[in-house]
Amino acid sequence: MRTTFKKLAFAALPLTIAVTSVQASEEVNIYSYRQQFLIQPMLDAFTEKTGIKTNVVFAKKGLIERLENEGKNSPADIVLTSDIGPLYDVVSKGLTQPVQSAVLEQNIPSQFRDPADHWFGLTARTRLVYAAKGRVTEGELATYEELADPKWKGRICTRSGKHSYNLSLIGSMIAHHGEAQAEQWLEGLKANLARKPQGNDRAQVKAVKEGVCDLALGNSYYFGKMITNEKNPEQKDWANSVNLVFPNQADRGAHMNISGAALTKYAPHAESAVKLMEFLSEAQAQAMYAEANFEFPVRPGTQRSELIEQYMGEFKEDTINLQKVAELRAQAARLADKVGFDN
Ligand code: FE
Repeated sequence: MRTTFKKLAFAALPLTIAVTSVQASEEVNIYSYRQQFLIQPMLDAFTEKTGIKTNVVFAKKGLIERLENEGKNSPADIVLTSDIGPLYDVVSKGLTQPVQSAVLEQNIPSQFRDPADHWFGLTARTRLVYAAKGRVTEGELATYEELADPKWKGRICTRSGKHSYNLSLIGSMIAHHGEAQAEQWLEGLKANLARKPQGNDRAQVKAVKEGVCDLALGNSYYFGKMITNEKNPEQKDWANSVNLVFPNQADRGAHMNISGAALTKYAPHAESAVKLMEFLSEAQAQAMYAEANFEFPVRPGTQRSELIEQYMGEFKEDTINLQKVAELRAQAARLADKVGFDN
């Protein structure tokens, strides 16, 4: 409503006085790797509540490079990513600034935010093992470590070892076991693959359905996206062919990853941008955001979606700080090369 009113008011004013500094700051520019359908509802809710307009550039690739090239002239205030990898990259390149916010600190558990306050997780997901119903019995596989057990030879499917999601998982293995042991594990996992790494996470579950493999690695939200898929109903069959295994429930918990946000170094609307980041961490947006993509809210006490309650429930999460995991991603990539994971 307010946006409409302002537009009308502007139209009636002479150009020279149309923009005052206060009005100019009443917007936030976002570079988003997250898809529009996911974040637009929260942005609309934010504008409705605060009157602050949002402008978004959506892209699958190139936004960090764009930000880098634009330097001080970049219009971007916030970068939104769907994984700790690119979020860590944008911070590592010196393209962000820290945000000290009591609201963010309270709403986001410490493992999901940068100890130096440059990046903040807004939704969480775990990397699950999808296990073939009827071919893998309950409890037969309980940990990521067991994926390297020779009993699974020729029975595991995964996407590239160099994909962001797997780099974080391998990074967490290095963090918990050290590089030498992580390498052995990765070699064992590689030896157990049913086929050369290929396709995305959902393609692995499809392969389980088709009998190509019995175990598949995949992010948790893909289960929701498959089991509710009216557009491609065959994906419901893929989802129905597997049980969900949350690894390492008896020890450190399942490996977690996030989608998140960072404030750019030269954000022209930093104050409004921080307001938006805070808004995204509050109960209303957390519930909306998590529900839209079958993810987990990061904010403790936020209602999880019905689908999550039905199929996943509560589980033990690995609480290692994702900064540690992210710092080991380069090492993880070298290990993947070393063991020829994708060959
Ligand atoms: Fe994904």
